[in-house]
Amino acid sequence: AVLADQIAAGEVIENPAAVVKELVENSLDAGSHRIDIILEESGLATIQVIDDGSGIAVDDLALAFKRHATSKITGKKDLFRVQTLGFRGEALPSIASVADVIVESKTTAASAGAMIHLRGGEILVQEAAASRQGTQITVRDLFFNTPVRLKYLKSPNTELANITDIVNRLALGHPEVAFSLTHNGRSLLQTVGNGKLQQVLSAIYGVTTARQMIPVGRQDQDFQISGFVSLPKLTRASRNYISLLINGRYVKSHTLLRAVAAGYGSKLMVGRYPLAVLNIELDFQLVDVNVHPTKQEVRISKEEQLAQLIKAAIQASLASENL
Ligand code: ADP
Ligand code: MG
Repeated sequence: AVLADQIAAGEVIENPAAVVKELVENSLDAGSHRIDIILEESGLATIQVIDDGSGIAVDDLALAFKRHATSKITGKKDLFRVQTLGFRGEALPSIASVADVIVESKTTAASAGAMIHLRGGEILVQEAAASRQGTQITVRDLFFNTPVRLKYLKSPNTELANITDIVNRLALGHPEVAFSLTHNGRSLLQTVGNGKLQQVLSAIYGVTTARQMIPVGRQDQDFQISGFVSLPKLTRASRNYISLLINGRYVKSHTLLRAVAAGYGSKLMVGRYPLAVLNIELDFQLVDVNVHPTKQEVRISKEEQLAQLIKAAIQASLASENL
């Protein structure tokens, strides 16, 4: 089992950012209101994620580390309408197979919690613990037993930038959740979780809506788009400042990125891109997230229709500002 988990880890867990993404997505799936992410040494020494979500029942704690054990989908039919960020049951076993992992968790119903300690996929300790409500996962010594993976990591600064990038986008997709990200004792991000996207935008990019960002909102019978895009004068030299979230899941889509730029038309200079956050709500049946283990590639039915809607939405918002 450990070998299969290590192979899966090769697909799901490429770098510290992938660990952070999977853990935070689990916290979001657990309905957390507050998620604290604490890193040491770009996540290579420690990644800790603390949430106040539903918690894991004592009897399910070891099960959560079994491959394809997911509490989130029960039948094949669910696979075509995934509402949670996770559903493959691969992340925890994959992470535990290549690191030292301690989980402490307690559900609301239980009077006491439990902890489990695994290293390289083997359970070392499992015992009762006086935990607080929610889940706390600590991942240490990532890739200690896969030296090749360790060797191919980027510089600590790049790995940290990748983590920050993923946390930023998860925070943008969930303004109702209070996020904090701390690295080597220094705070890198703090959102208040008041449900306002403006607050998250200002925490991450330092931009204030009204002066630099304009609201976007439009819908048709299939899609509902809301968010903010920057004034044409506020641009960046890379597409990385465009975040597209589909039902709260950050996705990569060239077609949709192109649609954002197309909304600006000739107002964008060559090689410049806007800052934009668009949350797109659609029926869960219109999106297939089961395309790639990292779940960032999705297949959207009617993607061309959505692209046109994004373009029209941005055009309308710019026009309403006489831009
Ligand atoms: P998946 O998210 O695809 O179901 P994971 O390996 O990421 O698989 O997690 C396995 C299971 O562990 C989840 O289905 C969930 O039941 C439980 N779990 C993991 N993290 C948390 C958390 N932070 N809060 C509550 N339950 C969790
Ligand atoms: Mg998961």
